[in-house]
Amino acid sequence: MRLPITVHRARLGKHSYRVIRPRPTPPNVVLRDFRNREGEFDMRLDARAAHRIGMAWLLAARSPRSLVHFPLRGRPTPVTPQCCPRCIEWCCPLATDEPQLDLLLLHRGLQFRPSRWKEVRARLDDGRPETAEIPASDVPDEENVLPFEEHWMDQNPLRQHVHAETLLLTGNAPLFRELSTWFLELATRGPRMRSLTGEAHQCNELRFHEDPREDSQLHITYADKWSGTDIEL
Ligand SMILES: [Zn+2]
Ligand SMILES: [Zn+2]
Repeated sequence: MRLPITVHRARLGKHSYRVIRPRPTPPNVVLRDFRNREGEFDMRLDARAAHRIGMAWLLAARSPRSLVHFPLRGRPTPVTPQCCPRCIEWCCPLATDEPQLDLLLLHRGLQFRPSRWKEVRARLDDGRPETAEIPASDVPDEENVLPFEEHWMDQNPLRQHVHAETLLLTGNAPLFRELSTWFLELATRGPRMRSLTGEAHQCNELRFHEDPREDSQLHITYADKWSGTDIEL
């Protein structure tokens, strides 16, 4: 499986950082910060974006020395940020004007201080285009139940920070690989269930580890109505 990327570098003191971005950033995805009100982050995306982002999580799993960056701020929001027809799911937050965020994946082993991200981002070079090869065998087997028991999450925790208008998710290779399915699965289920059942709300919920706020999560929701230029309204 091939994923077009841009590889950027930034030098900061004696450290050099490698930052990978999927190329191009899929147009129809928006990530919003609901922490002040709901204790959660909400991501709306179409099937193409869900697939592309799932692939990038697989690439993150294979790239322990790189940061994987999705520059998402300032994207067009769906025609309605709520599901359409009107959604009655409790997990579907009412959207007002919550701030948009970028997304950054990084390995715990890098020991990267989240507060450093703003400076690293400011110093990124123009980057060069590459194509990443991701073996199909990297995709977790859908038949196997995901090992999200407590002890597995203790060994492979997912932690979140917000800095410089970016949601930073810190994990390790097994975790990023498993969580890629949250996106890849939604890329096929979203459109299929929408057309089969007409049910508006198709989502996955990605919980953070050891967060004192129990509801803290990344809520990933399929959205097929966008005001971007690449759909017919
Ligand atoms: Zn939901
Ligand atoms: Zn909804």
